[in-house]
Amino acid sequence: MPNYDYECTACGHKFEAFQQMNDKVLTKCPKCSKKVKRLIGGGAGLIFKGSGFYATDYKKKSSSSGAPHACPKAKEGCTGCG
Ligand SMILES: [Zn+2]
Repeated sequence: MPNYDYECTACGHKFEAFQQMNDKVLTKCPKCSKKVKRLIGGGAGLIFKGSGFYATDYKKKSSSSGAPHACPKAKEGCTGCG
């Protein structure tokens, strides 16, 4: 039987539900009865958490690679002579 991971959008409660493929998708948190979302695959939550890292990593990268390293006069204030 496949099991699905759910996460409550209100209280953040995470739980697994064992369901048949044709069972109804759960919509209610067992704790607070608010809306839950189904996490696709086990790693969906991780991707979400990692997106923060990604953003900062991307920023770092773009700021360093955005500078005109190729220009030898970049230090003197050349902002792009290429
Ligand atoms: Zn909840």
